[in-house]
Amino acid sequence: MASHFIGCAACDEMIPHSEYTKGQLAKGTDRRCKTCVKMQVPVPPAVEARAAAHAARLGLPRITKANAESYPAPNLNQFRTVAARASDDAAPVLWFWQMTGTD
Ligand SMILES: [Zn+2]
Repeated sequence: MASHFIGCAACDEMIPHSEYTKGQLAKGTDRRCKTCVKMQVPVPPAVEARAAAHAARLGLPRITKANAESYPAPNLNQFRTVAARASDDAAPVLWFWQMTGTD
């Protein structure tokens, strides 16, 4: 019996589809597995979701072992001030999202 695994927004693990309630599945990528709901593990802060949404709109891919050479980390010398890093679409924010998918 093939089980289909999907990501949980709270624990960031791939969890079998059957471990989500229908209500959680309706939330799309903000879904939490039954364990996270029971343990009250929160979904990541909104700023991360905004960065992820922005990166997705820009068509930025996730960075994996296979393509990491094509996506070097941004030069942080250009982002020394808090203001330079604060934007949801600041290069370090998007790069971090590409690496982790969450935060
Ligand atoms: Zn979970």
